[in-house]
Amino acid sequence: MTYELKKQIELKGLTKEEMGHYFETIYEKKFRADQLYHWLYTHHVTSFEEMLNIPKRLQKILETDCTLEVLKIESVHSSETTGTKKYILSTQDGKLIESVLIPDDNRTTLCISTQVGCPLDCKFCATGVMGYTRNLTSAEIIDQYYLVSRDNPGKITNIVYMGMGEPLLNFKNTHKSLKILTEAQNTRLSRHRITVSTVGIPEKIKELAESWVRVRMAFSLHSCFNELRSIIVPINDKYPLETIIPNLRYYSDKTRSRITFEYTMFKNFNDRDEDIEALKKLMSQIPSKLNLIPFNSIDHMNPKGVSKKLQATPYGRIMEFADRLRQHDLTVLIRDTQGDDISAACGQLAYEQAAKGRASFNFDEES
Ligand code: SF4
Repeated sequence: MTYELKKQIELKGLTKEEMGHYFETIYEKKFRADQLYHWLYTHHVTSFEEMLNIPKRLQKILETDCTLEVLKIESVHSSETTGTKKYILSTQDGKLIESVLIPDDNRTTLCISTQVGCPLDCKFCATGVMGYTRNLTSAEIIDQYYLVSRDNPGKITNIVYMGMGEPLLNFKNTHKSLKILTEAQNTRLSRHRITVSTVGIPEKIKELAESWVRVRMAFSLHSCFNELRSIIVPINDKYPLETIIPNLRYYSDKTRSRITFEYTMFKNFNDRDEDIEALKKLMSQIPSKLNLIPFNSIDHMNPKGVSKKLQATPYGRIMEFADRLRQHDLTVLIRDTQGDDISAACGQLAYEQAAKGRASFNFDEES
């Protein structure tokens, strides 16, 4: 068992087993991990002093060895039209990331980030335009949930790993954070309410299928044709659809869950009749549902090349597209355009705030 050796241990980044092991190394009983999890994920305490059943002597040791401080809320932007709340959070080294709380009819979903920026450069994505800085630690991933749920007690019912970054390119920390979330009883978050969204890293989809976390999987499809998908999702050149789809089928079999295909709709690009036919064929091969996503313009970020040419499919065509697929008993949802008035495209607000100089991105640094 190892934890990353740092000046202080980030307790929020430890699984229960790792926390128990830490307590053993300081000659304490393993059950202290259950107590800490309770204080952290049920009561959302911010200091060791508030952990009433932890002896003072142990509180002092924890204060020296460990830290609870990971992220800080820089600002919160609420949409007046939809109730969506976007959180800009800063890391200890001054990077900015985003988490978004999205209320829907009977659920409230938290969308969290796994990287500062993203290396994959999808042409419709504000985070892609921003470039990549570094992976988030498991504690930084968990702290997004922790901070937003403290600010909205009892509200979060679902989590999607769909914010800044490609979760499966930060596999170790993503996987660990999933373990922590599913272990933290009283978060009300069963594995069925947690979804990891990926553009498709085949071997990592398989690895996640074989791990015990068994959360739901969403795949950013956007086109059933490699030649089109590669234009807007450049990593498709490395991992074309025929390398990804069998792994998604494997994931679905192994976890007994449906794959969600995410499909952002672009006018005269992927909203044609032949796209409907291709989706029918794909969805008949794999237990799945389809999310049609109206495109949120990223024009204000001065996109270049392909990004500049992308236009949103008119809403009427999205409805017609959905209806034609539904006629074949396929499950098709149209996602609301959430929070246009607060720059809802992922990464957009963090980028804008960084550009205003509130914290600095380093576009070249890697970790
Ligand atoms: S869509 Fe996802 S994978 Fe693609 S650039 Fe944006 S954050 Fe990265």
